[in-house]
Amino acid sequence: MLGLMQNHPLMIGGLLKHAARYHGTTEIVSKTVEGDLHRTDWAGIERRARRLVRALQRLGVKDGDRVATLAWNGHRHLEIYYGVSGMGAVVHTLNPRLHPDDLTYIADHAADCVLLADTTFVPLVEQIAPRLTGTLRAVVFMTDPAHMPKVTLPAGMTLGCYEDLLDAADDDYDWPVFDENTASAICYTSGTTGRPKGVVYSHRSTLLHAYATVATDVMGIRAVDRITPVVPMFHANAWGVPYTSALAGSALVMPGRHLDGASVTALMNGERVTMSAGVPTVWLGLLQHLRASGERLETVRRLVVGGSAAPPLLIEAFGREYGIQLDHAWGMTETSPLGTYNAPRPMHAGLSLEERERLAQKQGRVVFGVDMKIVDDDDQELPWDGERFGNLKVRGPWVASAYYGQEPGSALDENGWFMTGDVATIDPDGFMLITDRSKDVIKSGGEWISSIELENIAVSHPDVAEAAVIGAAHKKWDERPLLLVVPRPGATLTPEAVLAVYEGRIAKWWLPDAVIVVDELPHTATGKLQKTALRAKYGNYLIE
Ligand code: ADP
Repeated sequence: MLGLMQNHPLMIGGLLKHAARYHGTTEIVSKTVEGDLHRTDWAGIERRARRLVRALQRLGVKDGDRVATLAWNGHRHLEIYYGVSGMGAVVHTLNPRLHPDDLTYIADHAADCVLLADTTFVPLVEQIAPRLTGTLRAVVFMTDPAHMPKVTLPAGMTLGCYEDLLDAADDDYDWPVFDENTASAICYTSGTTGRPKGVVYSHRSTLLHAYATVATDVMGIRAVDRITPVVPMFHANAWGVPYTSALAGSALVMPGRHLDGASVTALMNGERVTMSAGVPTVWLGLLQHLRASGERLETVRRLVVGGSAAPPLLIEAFGREYGIQLDHAWGMTETSPLGTYNAPRPMHAGLSLEERERLAQKQGRVVFGVDMKIVDDDDQELPWDGERFGNLKVRGPWVASAYYGQEPGSALDENGWFMTGDVATIDPDGFMLITDRSKDVIKSGGEWISSIELENIAVSHPDVAEAAVIGAAHKKWDERPLLLVVPRPGATLTPEAVLAVYEGRIAKWWLPDAVIVVDELPHTATGKLQKTALRAKYGNYLIE
């Protein structure tokens, strides 16, 4: 017997319609590229997204076409998210921090036909446009005629001005309903593990992810919230915040291009922001600014942190000094991205502050819809004892089954599990802790050492600003941990002083064999430590 309930496809256009109809006057504030604050609301976003569809249709965009963006978080980017997906085309967020070679490869691979870009990216656009081999036929700068830059494009490529195009378009458009499995967006992984690969989201996966992650024990977003996605919209869809906020009807405060501590503090206090989401590097910058300036975040109660492991120090400092809760989450571009979120269970009632802080270091428990397990190298499931670490596998309706251009299911094992490339433990309460990416695990004499744990301890030294641990080749043990540290401004570090922080906190054989003090560490386009570069430079340090 079938159920007798209505069958409405889950549509991104429908999500925007909901926000406009029921939360129409809720604000969307954006720091513009020009530096001022732009104010609109969900009704305004919806109206302009309809105009945008008409404008894109005039540019020849059809169902399934890829429309790329090179843009910061702002209201126009939000209009593009909804307009492009809502009309049945596919929004492709390009990460401007990628190398131009990678961007060229990605835009060609996705066969982008129109590119919408912020004016900050004129030099980048001029660099990549002539190298694209075929499909890109128009570049639209996301500005008004008064700020339209001078741009040189290859012959045959149309140059457009966003506001001109919208002015010339009508808004007589109704969001269509079509198969919810239709592709809505495409996002390439940043290539820390080889050539970038395209993850293709659908309307259905996006809405299911929004329903699941808006929950109280996940992002916990409410209509009264004012949220700043510091995580860029080109990094795994700003972790879904542009969608969850529409679902919940919360206000968005978009930070634009300046994500330094001072800019973020001014925006959050000025706009009474209640919560935000971003990577540890951004929160470390914010923390340094708050400590140095004596300022406080007046209205923020929660910060979501993920993308790489949040050092304990970050969680402790925000909690103890500023009364702000840091929620640790884990995910990947391939998982939309949220897979786990750290929210307590009944057995955690009554934990001491220190115990709660220790729990907060874990990446958390699964969000309903996602299933996870850890396996050994023979694919045998490992116990949830919080001790054994193994390869993390996940599955669920917002987990990728294949990469763009590949056969559906080709990224999965025979039982439908996706191999994350992460190494983790799971404790008896179902809390997962990432100990490494599998290629970063240090294999010393056949035993595994967690580079993340060693890094977390290193940054607990008051004079260490950032730390990276890599496995360096070793004659006897194959690999041994090598620690690289960046001192805080004005501080001097000695290897002995840094190694002293490990005293009593790890097994003796985990102690790094050497410490190198460096001025800075290399980062990827999504702000993570670029360990491939470090291994290339220092991989033989212990045998030279
Ligand atoms: P990329 O691989 O392109 O940098 P992703 O954002 O998809 O981009 O990276 C996903 C990876 O980031 C995960 O597989 C994991 O290694 C790491 N990661 C994400 N969140 C966390 C977290 N909270 N703690 C530790 N690592 C994390």
